[in-house]
Amino acid sequence: MGIEDKLPSGILLTTLEGVAGWMRQASFWPVTMGLACCAIEMMAFGTPRYDSGRWGQEVFRASPRSADLMIVSGRVSQKMAPVIRQIYDQMPNPKWVLSMGACASSGGMFNNYAVIQGCDHFLPVDMYVPGCPPRPDMLIDAIFKLRQQVQRTPIGPNAIAAVEENEKLALAA
Ligand code: SF4
Repeated sequence: MGIEDKLPSGILLTTLEGVAGWMRQASFWPVTMGLACCAIEMMAFGTPRYDSGRWGQEVFRASPRSADLMIVSGRVSQKMAPVIRQIYDQMPNPKWVLSMGACASSGGMFNNYAVIQGCDHFLPVDMYVPGCPPRPDMLIDAIFKLRQQVQRTPIGPNAIAAVEENEKLALAA
């Protein structure tokens, strides 16, 4: 009898998923998506004072092709929404979205025709950060919570199914 017969089924895949999740959660590469005043706090998050590089998160990417996290920081105008969605679609799976601040999450004080009342109308948001604007410490806290979620993301064919299911649930809510 080989060792594979003695092990409970699925143990190898579970271990690989655990390792992949551990590596992913420790190396977020956010795409630059600063839209308004909240973006100033997001930029502060990358400065030496907060030093997000301590957790492997300081590498903001100008290209969505090499990013796995979108931090939507600031109010989203009607004209900007399709552009943001296109950038999101260009990011490879698996990917995550963090909505930073009252405006990105709900339109904030801009309850008018020109501003989308929450980026979850067109993006599957994984984490919301409250505040106007949220301090960089709050963004750090949100990213640590998101890391726990990322650790549990499956790999292989299950990953795509999980992302699609997540997107469906988020947009239906
Ligand atoms: Fe600006 Fe406040 Fe809106 Fe952030 S939540 S974009 S700080 S008005």
